[in-house]
Amino acid sequence: AVTAPAARPGFLGRILGRGTPAAPRRVLDDAMLESLEELLIQSDMGVETALRVAANLAEGRMGRKLSVAEIKTLLASEIARIMEPVARPMPLYATTPQVVLVVGVNGSGKTTTIGKLASQFRAAGKKVVIAAGDTFRAAAVEQLQVWGTRAGVPVMTAPEGSDPASLAFDAMTRAQEEGADLLMIDTAGRLQNRQDLMEELAKIVRVIRKKDPAAPHNTLLVLDATTGQNALSQVETFRKLADVSGLVMTKLDGTAKGGVLVALADRFGLPIHAIGVGEKIDDLAPFDPEDFARALVG
Ligand code: GDP
Repeated sequence: AVTAPAARPGFLGRILGRGTPAAPRRVLDDAMLESLEELLIQSDMGVETALRVAANLAEGRMGRKLSVAEIKTLLASEIARIMEPVARPMPLYATTPQVVLVVGVNGSGKTTTIGKLASQFRAAGKKVVIAAGDTFRAAAVEQLQVWGTRAGVPVMTAPEGSDPASLAFDAMTRAQEEGADLLMIDTAGRLQNRQDLMEELAKIVRVIRKKDPAAPHNTLLVLDATTGQNALSQVETFRKLADVSGLVMTKLDGTAKGGVLVALADRFGLPIHAIGVGEKIDDLAPFDPEDFARALVG
């Protein structure tokens, strides 16, 4: 099992200050509420979510004197409340192979996440096969092979530029023949030509359904948390291209302010299956709402 180094942006905390017990309390008035809203917006939470979180915090407390420590505790519990329903690991089914389609823009961390997940599943005793479905990016295929070797999982590839759907079909056949528990299919992340990508993803789904009408059982969207509010529009886009069932948020170890996860949970309610907290194979942690909220508030 991976221990979760709490996603540690601490963005709000850095601005709110340390809130020592000796610090003076302040009356929660309109001006203070406004600066709280401002702060939440700056944390990448988006206006709508920021206003809601601030309003919930203020409810029944206007005119009361609050210390920084109290504000932080209230904020953390508001944030944790929003995050709790989405903190769910990727569901595993009895079906074999369970087909996991992995989508996301290039650079979001798809390849890395597939490698990390494959390693975790393998450690849990699952037999895993990976299909390098981004056949137009030779570098992506090579990178996935490196991850496959690290994770001890076979990676099926096809000649550069060949049809990803036919690779997916072959991978499905192999996974079935070998009795694999999981088949993870990488996909292209070229958003420049959306129509093209939509057709490519639809075709992959169509052919694997010839083998199992319930496949794919999961469609994971990988999002880079450092892209901030951009992650919201990526969810909107990819939901039009594929039947996204869950999210993996990468790069929470870096400069990400983290608030975007709150916005995502608030707006879409899609489960956050895991978070990427580094570039190494074990740097994938379950999403823990309380740890996250505490870290965000700092
Ligand atoms: P892809 O194009 O979506 O397949 O993205 P990659 O998996 O190749 O990742 C792009 C870059 O992000 C690589 O340099 C990865 O090492 C890095 N990366 C991926 N996940 C994480 C993460 O959780 N934390 C950090 N710090 N870097 C990550």
